[in-house]
Amino acid sequence: MARVSSNKDATKVRERAVRQAGAQLRNEHATKVVEAEERVRSLRARYGGMDGESLLEVLVREEFYGEIAATSSFGAESAVLLDMIASIDSATPVIFLDTGKLFEETYNYVSTLVSHLGLSCVQVERPSPERLLSLDPRGDLWRRDADSCCHIRKVEPLLRAFGSGRYRAWITGRKRYHGDLRLHLQTFEAVDGLIKVNPLAGWSLERIRSRFESRGLPLHPLVAQGYPSIGCHHCTHRAEAGDDPRAGRWANMQKTECGIHRASWMAGSDKP
Ligand code: SF4
Repeated sequence: MARVSSNKDATKVRERAVRQAGAQLRNEHATKVVEAEERVRSLRARYGGMDGESLLEVLVREEFYGEIAATSSFGAESAVLLDMIASIDSATPVIFLDTGKLFEETYNYVSTLVSHLGLSCVQVERPSPERLLSLDPRGDLWRRDADSCCHIRKVEPLLRAFGSGRYRAWITGRKRYHGDLRLHLQTFEAVDGLIKVNPLAGWSLERIRSRFESRGLPLHPLVAQGYPSIGCHHCTHRAEAGDDPRAGRWANMQKTECGIHRASWMAGSDKP
């Protein structure tokens, strides 16, 4: 009887410890969220009129020295941002999400750009083999549930990269002219305790093209074949002349973003 009672007590102690640990994690996260929001207000006040390379320079070299990383799909426009980063500090971490479903041309383009720009810290993140085995053993999840497919192939690997706590700021190449959810994109955003920087938010397609020319940047081989935006091969189609720049992405689905830019991924997710 005494042993039963002592087992129950031990269980209660463990449960209380788990609850306290959970509450502490939530408090720490809430603090990070508030701090990031305050920092974004301060960044907007200091650098609100800047963009492109000059903005990146001050962020990489001063504001977030040693704690900033970029993500890149090595897609149609990626070379512009990567060229700026390489010019400032070629050892800046660049996270490349290899979903295992990319075009062969993209893998080749990664090699081309890394060598052309001299990028020395490309961090390749891949989906967990266990998650693939359990949720997408036949590799056709994209057809049945594209959100879940993007989640295990993109969001979770990104979460691993940023969840390490190594980075406080995240550089993305998104632009307002891409439309849809990006239409009102700001240069600085606070997302779940992380600061996102979009130095090309206000850039136009013409400005991107001009930068490719002036810097002699190699083009992704699929651009010449009619792909203005390039992701996984199952979910990327050629666009017609006059289409939105991202019209070829998830063309026959009610989906316009993969999920890595959804606001709540750092706080945990319901998917899948
Ligand atoms: S873009 Fe398509 S194939 Fe790639 S991860 Fe998302 S659903 Fe899967």
